Amino acid sequence: MAKVFNFSAGPAALPEEVLVQARYELLDWHGVGMSVMEMSHRSREFVSIIERVESDLRELLAIPDDYKILFLQGGATSQFSMIPQNLLGTKSGADYIYTGQWSKKAIAEAGKFCKVNVAASSEDKNFSYVPKRESWNLDPEAAYVHITSNETIGGIEYQETPDVGNVPLVADMSSHLLSRPVDVARYGLIYAGAQKNIGPAGLTILIIREGLIGQASSDIASIANYKTHADNKSMYNTPPTYAIYMAGLVLQWLKRRGGLVAMEKTNIAKAQLLYGCLDASGFYNSPVAVEDRSRMNVPFRLADESLDAEFLEQGRRQGLVQLKGHRSIGGMRASIYNAMPQEGVQALVEFMHEFERTHG
Ligand code: PMP
Repeated sequence: MAKVFNFSAGPAALPEEVLVQARYELLDWHGVGMSVMEMSHRSREFVSIIERVESDLRELLAIPDDYKILFLQGGATSQFSMIPQNLLGTKSGADYIYTGQWSKKAIAEAGKFCKVNVAASSEDKNFSYVPKRESWNLDPEAAYVHITSNETIGGIEYQETPDVGNVPLVADMSSHLLSRPVDVARYGLIYAGAQKNIGPAGLTILIIREGLIGQASSDIASIANYKTHADNKSMYNTPPTYAIYMAGLVLQWLKRRGGLVAMEKTNIAKAQLLYGCLDASGFYNSPVAVEDRSRMNVPFRLADESLDAEFLEQGRRQGLVQLKGHRSIGGMRASIYNAMPQEGVQALVEFMHEFERTHG
C-alpha cells in the first residue's frame, strides 16, 4: 500500500502510531482474550478504558473539577438542538454569532426551541472573518452565547476566547479541540464531534460546567437531557465503546508528543508553511482575513478555476488526497489536523510550487 497524506476535513487522518497500536490490540486487548469491540460497556475492563480517557482529557485540557465530561453520540449536530433544550432554563432566547455554514445550522436548529438573536454576523463578506467582539450586539438576558470557534468549511478560527460577561459561553469546537490549549473555565459548554482531531466518527464529546446541568424541562426526551447522561456517567445507554477506546489512544499519543502546548507549536508551524505558500503566489489565494485564518482547515483557490480538476488529479497521483473544497463553496481545502505531520504539509507545498511552475 502506498502511503498517502490525507487532507480530509473529517472523518480525518489518525496518527499512524495509534492505528498500529489499535491493530496490535484488535483481537486481544491487554490479554483479556477479546476485542474492545466485544466488551460489555459495564465490564471492569471497559470502565477502566473510559475512566482513563476521561482523566487524560482532563489532564490535557486542564479541565477544572467542576466540569463534567460526557461521551455522547449523535454527532455535533445533535447538540444544535440539545443545547437550547438543556440550557434555556427560565430564559426565552440565546445569542448566536453567525460565521459560516456550521453556525448557520446551529442557528436554524436552535430557532425551533428558542428566540435566536444573531448578535453578530460575517455574512456581509461571505464569512471570511470573525466579527470583532466590540461589534457584537449581545442580549444581557440571553441564556447563553453560542460560537462556532472553528468553521470547518470557511476556514476561520477564533484566535482568542471572547469575553461575554456572566452569560455562559457555548462553543462548537468540533474541528479544533485539542489543537491548542483552551481556558476551559471561560466556557459554560464545549462540544465536538470526534472525527476530526480526536478519533473516529461516532463519539461526541461534551465538556460542561456542572451548574448548567439540570435545567432542562422534564418533558424532553431522556436521551436529550444532559442530566441523564451525567447521572449515568455516560452509560445511560450503550456508549460508542470502540470510538471511545480509539479516542483514548489518540489522547495517549498527544501526551507522548508533549501535550497541547507542543501540539500548538507544530500546528502553527504547519499553518505558516501552507499560508506562506498561498500568500507568496498570485496563482493561489486564500479567501480568509489573515488574522482569523484557521490553523486546521485551509481553504484556497486557484486563480484559474479551470485547472482545479487537474490540480486534484495530479495531487492524488502524488499521494496528496482529499484536497477538494467543500461542495458548497468549491475550490480546495487542506485540513491539517494534529495527525497531519509536518512532512505532509511540506509535500503539499512542494507539489503546489511545482504545479504553479508548470501551469502558471
Ligand atoms: N460543527 C462543525 C464545526 C463541524 O465541522 C461539523 C462536521 N463537519 C459539525 C458541526 C457536524 O458534526 P457531525 O457530523 O458530527 O454531526
